[in-house]
Amino acid sequence: MEILSLLRCDTYEYDKVKVAIDDTFKQLGGIEKYIKPGMKVLLKINLLMKKRPEEATTTHPVFVEALVRAIQSAGGIVVIGDSPGGPYTVNALRGVYRACGIEQVAKNTGALLNYDISVKEVSFEKGRITKRFTVINPVFDTDFIITVPKLKTHGMTMFTGAVKNLFGVIPGINKAEYHFRMADKKDFCEMLVDLCEYVKPGLAIMDGIIGMEGSGPSGGSPRQIGAVIASENPYLVDLAAINIIGLKTNEVYTVYNSIARGLCPAQLEDVTMVGQAISEFVIADYKLPSGRGISFVDRLPAKMQRKINGWVSPNPIFIHETCVGCKDCAKACPPRAIEMKQQKPYVDMDKCIKCFCCQELCPKKAVEIKRPWWLRKILQ
Ligand code: SF4
Ligand code: SF4
Repeated sequence: MEILSLLRCDTYEYDKVKVAIDDTFKQLGGIEKYIKPGMKVLLKINLLMKKRPEEATTTHPVFVEALVRAIQSAGGIVVIGDSPGGPYTVNALRGVYRACGIEQVAKNTGALLNYDISVKEVSFEKGRITKRFTVINPVFDTDFIITVPKLKTHGMTMFTGAVKNLFGVIPGINKAEYHFRMADKKDFCEMLVDLCEYVKPGLAIMDGIIGMEGSGPSGGSPRQIGAVIASENPYLVDLAAINIIGLKTNEVYTVYNSIARGLCPAQLEDVTMVGQAISEFVIADYKLPSGRGISFVDRLPAKMQRKINGWVSPNPIFIHETCVGCKDCAKACPPRAIEMKQQKPYVDMDKCIKCFCCQELCPKKAVEIKRPWWLRKILQ
């Protein structure tokens, strides 16, 4: 039976986080089970964009530092990496590492920050929906990969955790191509499971100390959760996290697909849980993204589902008063549906594929995701 470790840690005080990380490894069978002396370990953290740690958009630097030191004490050599949104360049990486507090982690610990921006085209015949990926080089250059996500809501996929975090191994603006090709969120999530199967992280350790609720993955609000969740099985970590924040498996297609493929147990009762009981972490009023809960659509034929989803699914709404005209949304939009007029964005909804990259990458929280007004009235 698979093991899921769940531990309480309510603060980013270094000493307490370090105890939680050390105890996590103990609960999973000991760090030496995973990390051998001299092994090069990639920490694939979440560095979506330049955000301060307290904004709860990125994996917290104290969490990363505690993990780095644990791996180093077992003899591992740590490389920290991610491909944030926007161009995948050395300068962009430097700016994100600095803003998110990760540059300081490297200075404190001697961990290596990835500046290798080369990529590889790989084929993956076992992929259900995606048989080729373009992947950043540290995935091939390291011996062991740990996905280290932040627990957050997500406008398109409802939730982002251990599996969605791995979308960051796709370099920069190449991500747009995947959104474009798999505009339907079910297909997109199938692709994410394919990608996770390709990357095959050896461990998933989630920063759920303070997560993000509401308009995640960048426009929501920090929310205290107090959980460090870990397993060899990344799908299981996500299953536990969505249980904590009150999402059902059929609302999060990465989890749903992983269960359907036999990669994840259908329920936590089928799992060996170590540490605290999950009931101690459940948050009844966790704010979920506004795209949630039109479940009757799932029971209709696929063709009809797509049509109805087009009518009922939420739209990006640009708040021009808050917008500073940086154009990041227009640059990130896969189908080029956003036009800037007098330094404000306007979207052509006939072209929009509702991927919500615009919301994800807006530095000013100037993009809201809202259902059509008539549906909001019905669902009130
Ligand atoms: S990314 Fe945000 S702030 Fe920048 S132009 Fe778009 S809406 Fe405005
Ligand atoms: S406007 Fe926003 S939601 Fe629509 S396709 Fe562009 S990035 Fe995606």
